[in-house]
Parts: sequence; C-alpha cells; structure tokens
Amino acid sequence: MIYCDAHCHLLPPETFRRASERGVRTFCVNTTRTTEWAQVIALQNQVLGIYPCFGIHPWYVAEAPADWTQQLRDMLRRYPTAMVGEIGLDATRPDMPRQRAIFEQSLQIAAEYNRAVHIHCVRAWPDLFEILGQYREIKPLFHRFSGDEVIIQKLRLFNAYFSVLNGRVIDVIPDNRLLIESDAPDGIRDPARIPDLIADLNLDPAYIAQNWELFIHD
Ligand SMILES: [Zn+2]
Repeated sequence: MIYCDAHCHLLPPETFRRASERGVRTFCVNTTRTTEWAQVIALQNQVLGIYPCFGIHPWYVAEAPADWTQQLRDMLRRYPTAMVGEIGLDATRPDMPRQRAIFEQSLQIAAEYNRAVHIHCVRAWPDLFEILGQYREIKPLFHRFSGDEVIIQKLRLFNAYFSVLNGRVIDVIPDNRLLIESDAPDGIRDPARIPDLIADLNLDPAYIAQNWELFIHD
C-alpha cells in the first residue's frame, strides 16, 4: 500500500527515507518563512516524493522580507510541482492586519500560478471566509482541521480538502476530501507513523491514497 503525508515540515532526509520504506512515498513539506525555502528545495533534490510548499506562516509574518512576493513568484515559476504553504490566519497570535495582508497576497499569487494552498486557521473563520470568497478558483487544504459541521458546510462551496492527524472531527469531513498528515516534527512527529495512524482510525488506505491523487490532479 502507498501512503502520503499531506502536510509536514522540514525534517532530516533520513526521516523521509525511513518513512518511504514503510510505504509513505509522498510528502507535502511546508515552510513557514522565506529562509526555509532554499532548504526545502535542497531536500527535494535529496529525497524522492517531496512536494515543496513555499509560505509565510501567520506566526512569522513579522519576519517576511520586503521582496517576499517576488521570491514566491520566482519559486513557483521554477518549481512546477510546488504548492503554497503554510499560510493562514491565527487570531490567537498578534498582528492580524499584517497576517491578513500576507494571506491575501499569498492567495493572489497561488491563483496566478494555479497552485493548491495549505491553510492554518485558528479562531479566524469569519475573516477566512471573507478573504477566500475572493479566490474561489483556489484549491485549499485545511491542515490539522478542527472545525465543525457548520464550517464544513461553508467550505463545501470551495474545492477544499481536509487533513487530520487524529479522529476528532473525522465524521464531519466528506469521505472524498479526507487526507492524513503527520505535521512532523510537531503533530505525530514522524511521517513513518502514518500507516499506523490510518490503521488506528480504521480507515481504508486505498481511499486516502485516491483522495491524494484527486488533491494533486483534479
Ligand atoms: Zn504545519
């Protein structure tokens, strides 16, 4: 069986190789600031199955250099399999105006290059709906999704996917939109544990793999 890690972060190459031996063959490796972007490309050159994701995380908006939009466009132009992430809104963290500005610009650029986006959203759903409503063509993946049925219903208007690392909200997520992530080095800490997580959640790995194909290609 082939597995994928729908959302993780930079890890040592050996960690990805070990996961690959357990059947986890593709990884969306997210970044949180521009200084990590070259690192994810170096990783892609060392390990098979890496999908680089370039983003400025809402926790690190203060560190974004003045030319970050130019850098993002350059990276997306050079790496056609790359996505945009991790981006989003986090109302538990400071500087919502700057978070909103960077999130909107990131979505704008993702739309220009027709790339999926990995979204972190904490207590900011009203703002998120308002902004995302202007970018309906975008395919968002809500990572570590923790919303309820009402939020899912609203997100059905978008071409949204949901990735989780536990069973807490699995019942409200449409079957064909569910993905599994490690969020390593946080979360379940190691992408090699994804097959165990899928077994613990009583999920059929074949349909998760199918959802992954849809997410990448539809
Ligand atoms: Zn993450």
